[in-house]
Amino acid sequence: MSTLPIATFAEVRAYARTLMVRHRGSLALMLSLYALAAVAALVPAYVIGLLTNDATSHALTSNRIVDLLDVLASSSLAYGVLSFLARRRSYILGERVFAELRGSFLLSVLNLPLLVVENAGTGDLLSRTTSDVEAMSRTVRFALPEWLVAIIQTLLTFAAMVLVSPLASLASLVSLPILFFATRYYLRYATPGYRRERISYASLAGTVAETAEGARTIDALQLGDRQNRRIEANLRENFYAEMYTLLMRMVWFPISESAFALAVAATLGWSGLLVLHHVLSVGAATTVTLYVVQINDPLDRLVSWLDELQMGQSSLARLVGVSGVHDSRPLTGPEPADEELRLHNVRYAYGEGRDVVNDVSLVIRPGERLAIVGPSGAGKSTLGRLLAGTDVPRAGTVTLGGATLSDLPLTTLRRHVLLVTQEHHIFLGTVRDNVALAQPDASEEEVCSALDAVDALAWVRHLPEGLNTELGTTGHDLSPAQAQQVALARIVLANPHTLILDEATALLDPRAARHLERSLSAVLEGRTVIAIAHRLHTAHDADRVCVMEEGRITELGSHDELLSLNGSYAALWRSWRHETS
Ligand code: ADP
Repeated sequence: MSTLPIATFAEVRAYARTLMVRHRGSLALMLSLYALAAVAALVPAYVIGLLTNDATSHALTSNRIVDLLDVLASSSLAYGVLSFLARRRSYILGERVFAELRGSFLLSVLNLPLLVVENAGTGDLLSRTTSDVEAMSRTVRFALPEWLVAIIQTLLTFAAMVLVSPLASLASLVSLPILFFATRYYLRYATPGYRRERISYASLAGTVAETAEGARTIDALQLGDRQNRRIEANLRENFYAEMYTLLMRMVWFPISESAFALAVAATLGWSGLLVLHHVLSVGAATTVTLYVVQINDPLDRLVSWLDELQMGQSSLARLVGVSGVHDSRPLTGPEPADEELRLHNVRYAYGEGRDVVNDVSLVIRPGERLAIVGPSGAGKSTLGRLLAGTDVPRAGTVTLGGATLSDLPLTTLRRHVLLVTQEHHIFLGTVRDNVALAQPDASEEEVCSALDAVDALAWVRHLPEGLNTELGTTGHDLSPAQAQQVALARIVLANPHTLILDEATALLDPRAARHLERSLSAVLEGRTVIAIAHRLHTAHDADRVCVMEEGRITELGSHDELLSLNGSYAALWRSWRHETS
């Protein structure tokens, strides 16, 4: 099973750059506000320095104190207002960027070719739409803004320190190598640890969900012990993964904390020495030391958001990776000249396997009922997917009215050819939404007449709010037969000329079939119908029967013709009659 692609580092960086460029105005405004707030936050330490100088030189007057207090008060007020505005900006920007990311990810997911999703398995896609989007949300809304702010504050505080006294500032640098190496070590060893932790959560959740979902099977086959052992193994893995990251933090936190303390101590000692040698005023020494204390906070955040950013980056790579998969289908293209579906020397293989459809040529006459029969594994369903354009042949062509199916935009193709699956899924929304799923701009009359065509209008009108009744998990419950009628009404509204029915995954639940036969025949009326038949009475009623064996068409003709041919179909028919009589 192949997984969905993951974007490379360069692709992720390019993507992030286009995002930044698109929002450069808001980004610049937000960063400027944060920078101004950071400058306001630098004032108090400076004022305390001035106060100290005045006090030590016995020049302090009450007027001077009041003036300096004024400065302190207004800088605090300015800091409050500016950081409120900056935070507001950054939350708005974060939400906007996240909404955009999620929107474009959703679009990419919806545009994924079906075969890619099927090959990758829904699990991969599901974890990307849930945990990766979740991780991305934390990064974009919190980690990235906090990190940018921390950078600004660190740089500005350091700049202020250097402005006050370049010489005194030197001492604070002693902690940098320690921080650098400790953090590099931490990121190198902790990041895989966090990844392992997340994988272990996912497998535990998977086992628990599987156990709950398959409870009956587990009970019937007495698999309880096996599931218990699995959960225990998952928990053990969980435990060790957490112990590992805990150990990492236990090593890294004390080191970085001591590095900060060391910087303060070193600055204090060094600037004290400079004061003793009359190179530095006591006030400047106070200010510089206070700045070193102050810089610890943004520096700490700078380093501690790093692993969150790394996680965000790997999630973004998984999200951007999905948008790299493009349907090769064009968005605009020719209209088919008529409704004739034609297969010409078509071959198809799954992956590198053998041809499961092997040199098939067939012309489907507009308006006919064609039944495709044959033993299981003969390639009937695959042929159905090729006819619907869901899959593209390895060799040969499938054309509709002269146009190659893969050259037709999906919206055009689906107006002509529709593969009907058993997914009579009811989506969250009103009856009208559910019927008009593929034609959201359909009028009320069109929706009603589609429901009427499948004999569903009467009961829909009796629902509490008629067409506007909410359906789905939280809304009104439909019976299986009603759900199927809604699905049939969708087809009537979509109004494709050709329907491909795969009976193996048939729309109709056999229990409801009798009751729905009339609705179904109303849907089939006037269309070309290709039925992949598992019940031979479908073949009996068809205009032509096509027998497939080992990927090839071996017999083609009406029911009576094939019976008199006395070949495979006649044999199938006799044994089926024998079974059902
Ligand atoms: P039928 O509908 O006649 O039972 P199918 O078209 O489903 O036959 O399958 C034809 C062959 O292709 C079978 O051998 C089947 O195992 C194989 N096949 C079907 N689907 C896949 C798939 N997704 N990947 C690989 N092989 C497949």
